Amino acid sequence: MRTKVVAGNWKMNNDINSSVTLINEIKKGLNQKNINVKVIICPPFTSLETAYALIKETPIKLGAQNMYFEKSGAFTGEISPLMLKSVGCEYVILGHSERRTIFMESNQLINKKIKAAISNGLNPIFCIGETLEEREAGKTFNVVETQIREGLANLSEQELSNLIIAYEPVWAIGTGRNATPEQAEEVHKFIRDLIANLYSKEFAEKLIIQYGGSVKPENSKDLMSQPDIDGALVGGACLNAESFIKIIESAQ
Ligand code: PEP
Repeated sequence: MRTKVVAGNWKMNNDINSSVTLINEIKKGLNQKNINVKVIICPPFTSLETAYALIKETPIKLGAQNMYFEKSGAFTGEISPLMLKSVGCEYVILGHSERRTIFMESNQLINKKIKAAISNGLNPIFCIGETLEEREAGKTFNVVETQIREGLANLSEQELSNLIIAYEPVWAIGTGRNATPEQAEEVHKFIRDLIANLYSKEFAEKLIIQYGGSVKPENSKDLMSQPDIDGALVGGACLNAESFIKIIESAQ
């Protein structure tokens, strides 16, 4: 049985004050609830240290939204894996579609980042997914397969033991239009079978594959009750403690 994992991607939202408020509301809402779900919050870089101080005594885990693959040096504006570790991060979102489209990140760059995250003890939440054009052209499986093959190139099953994959169809992100549970499950099953072929059946069975794209309390239960959907990567709805908590509860 895989434990469900719900992660909140805050994107470029919340300064220190509003981060503190949101985290305190999440903590209050989850307090005394016996929930068997792994919860990860991914605030912007500027709120990470404060966030860690607020959650370190709780089961909530901390993740970043991006990083560079070098350890240190002349890379103005970038953040290294070691810097993220030093402020309490255990996870890092890599390959988010906004990074791929707005910041032109390639599968090759994402592969370097995944390798750097793993070798520095950070667990990647590796995002993949097709655009609407690609879906309508019948290319969903091809796109997702290429992203996986190139993004995970030259990484062993052992190195990937704490990997999380987030299937996020680009047309569903921030649009209010989620994939139906059947559409999502079809791709999740494809991903799990592909991982079984590339690595092993045992590894594929253990792998957490989250769905992301307009997840909200109204659709989260149906999505996460599909056999191959092991949780959610939540954008917009994680900025409100009440809706984030409802999504977490629905993952049970
Ligand atoms: C995301 O940014 O990863 C995401 C899924 O966003 P939203 O939930 O707002 O679609």
